[in-house]
Order: sequence, then structure tokens, then C-alpha cells
Amino acid sequence: MVKEFKRIGVLTSGGDAPGMNAAVRAIVRTANSRGVEVMGIYEGYKGLLTENLAVLNNRSVTNIVGRGSTMLYSDRCLEFKTEEGMQKAIVTCKKYGIDGIVAIGGDGTFRGATDLSIRGIPSIGIPGSIDNDITSTDYCIGFDTAKNTVIEMCDRLRDTCESHARCNVVEVMGRGAGGIAIEAGIAVGATAIAIPEIPFDEEAALQRITDCRKDGKRSFLVIVAEGYGAEFSEGLAAKIQEKTGVETKFCRLAHVVRGGNPTLTDRLKATLMGMEAVNQLLRGKSDLVICERRGEIVTMSIRYALILDRMYKGKLKDGDLDMFSAEEIAQMKELCRERTEHFKMLYETADIVAH
Ligand code: ADP
Repeated sequence: MVKEFKRIGVLTSGGDAPGMNAAVRAIVRTANSRGVEVMGIYEGYKGLLTENLAVLNNRSVTNIVGRGSTMLYSDRCLEFKTEEGMQKAIVTCKKYGIDGIVAIGGDGTFRGATDLSIRGIPSIGIPGSIDNDITSTDYCIGFDTAKNTVIEMCDRLRDTCESHARCNVVEVMGRGAGGIAIEAGIAVGATAIAIPEIPFDEEAALQRITDCRKDGKRSFLVIVAEGYGAEFSEGLAAKIQEKTGVETKFCRLAHVVRGGNPTLTDRLKATLMGMEAVNQLLRGKSDLVICERRGEIVTMSIRYALILDRMYKGKLKDGDLDMFSAEEIAQMKELCRERTEHFKMLYETADIVAH
């Protein structure tokens, strides 16, 4: 028999991402429409330890669909990772009658959701990450807004580069992932793009700038994913100036890219994912992450999603695959292959149109 839900909790945790508010709103209103009350848990899992939580009704989430940041705030709570912290969280859930939780965030957040699920509080994860670096899903909330912010900033830099016949190396966020860099790089007509997924050919990039300058090209943008490290990106700017003779500036967009009002895509996808998370929870499901796959909203077990992520990132540990069938492992490999191919295709495209 499916458990009867009277009240569920929602939290945002880990790195913030534009669109998280739209997801919170959808969760509150979907649950309320089904007669289930929602408690907002503030500052991620920390709110369960500090009892920083409040009932959210439909009016509590008025006018947040288009706002950046997260009205529930976010935090990285180390204490929650300990058994003692986790037990405290369970006690809070019991005390406030929280029958289930929707947690919006990244991998760390999903691990927390699993920990709650196995301790009797069914939990569902929603991927929120401007980096789009969660392997189980084609899309994470915040990615579209982040890319659009990067192109707005780069278009401005392009204007001044063109006036002064300069180059600008722009470092963009993404942690170990190059999704923002490659897509925004193509969209701003970058002459070279360095992403962690593909080895960067520095010599070729320098040669291309030299050749294009000879051709009469005045301005250049070079996009570097932060995964390369500050030393690399700043050094690259100096090297371009030294080797090509083109005056080169450096710009780190950093946290600018995390803020701002979410785009239509982020508002819409966050709404769809938020609604699906509540529907799954009320259907009695638990320990799942809501994913987008080929344009459709699907679910994946968190356990599977986390190991898939490790496989893609080359971080599998001994025994990680033991609990999966040969078919599941083959499917994981296929998902990793598709993601790798996707980056290759984008990189090759960027390379051809950059000349
Ligand atoms: P993200 O969710 O963006 O990956 P973090 O890795 O910082 O960000 O995780 C967010 C929060 O999730 C952490 O601060 C912690 O409270 C919780 N968390 C992370 N890892 C675990 C874990 N192994 N077990 C339980 N909770 C975790």
C-alpha cells in the first residue's frame, strides 16, 4: 500500500543555480493541489539540524518563478554527513511530520537523499547545477541561464575587443565539466575553446589567431573552462599576447554566472521536474533522481546515477559495479559513450567554425 503523505519537505543544497526557485514553486503548488502540505527547509540539509523550516503555501512562493538564487538558501552541511547528524535530521522530520523530501542539488545532495531514504524518509532528487555535470541527466536546472549569461558577457567583451583589435581570454565556470564553455564558446564565435573533456591543442590555437590576424580579423575570444585551473587560463592570455602579438586581456566571469533571473528553459524544466518529483514521491517512489533524457522527463535510481557518474568521470572504485546486472552496466557504458560523443561533436563543430 502506498504510504499516505500529509506533509513533505523541500530543500536546495550544494551550489545554487537559477531556476531552483521555479522548482520550489512547482513542488509547493503540485503538493498543495494534491492536499499535501509542504515545509521549506532552509539552508539545505543544515535546516534539518537547526530546525530552520517553515510551512510554504501557494502564496509563499508567489513571484519567485522568475527570480535567481534560491528562496530556501543553500549550504554545505558537513555535520549532516555523519550518522549523528543524519539521526538528528530524522528526528526533525518526525517532529514536524515530514513524510518525504524533495532535494534539489547535485551529487552530494543526492547522496543525502539516499541516506534519508534508507533511514525511512523517502526522498527524491532534482538536478540543479549550472555546470550540467550530472551524468544521469542530459539537463540540470541552471545550465541554460548560465550559458546565456556567459554569452551576454562575452558579447560585451567582443565589442571592446573589436574596437581595439584585441583578444580576450574568458574563464567560465564548470568545475570539471566543459558544457558551459563549449556551448557558449560556439555561440560567441570563440576562436579557441579549452574544455576538460578534450585535450587542448595550444599550438594550434596560437597558430589560428596568428593566421586569422593576418587575414584581417580584429577581435578574438578564447573561452577556457575553469577545470583547467587559474594558472593555465591566466597563462594562456599572456602566451597569446607574447606569441601572436595580439594584445590580450583576461577575464574570469566566476560567480557572475551563478546569478540572474532564470531563462524560459530553466523556468520550464524546473517546473516540470518539480512537478514530477512530487508525483513520484506521492506514488510511493523513493531514492530516485528526476532526469531529462532525449527531451523526456524520466527517473533513475540514485544508486545507479551515482555509479554512472563515477564511471563517466573515470572514478569507479573496486566493487562499484557488483550490484548491477550486465545489462545495466552495458546501459551505463552506452550513456557514457553518448555523452563523450556529444562533446566531441560540439568540439569539432567549434573547431570548424572558428577559422
Ligand atoms: P552538490 O549537491 O552540488 O554536489 P555538495 O557535494 O556540496 O554539493 O553536497 C551538498 C550537501 O549534500 C552537503 O553539504 C551535505 O550536506 C550533503 N552531502 C554531500 N555528500 C553527502 C554524503 N556522502 N552523504 C550524505 N550527505 C551528503
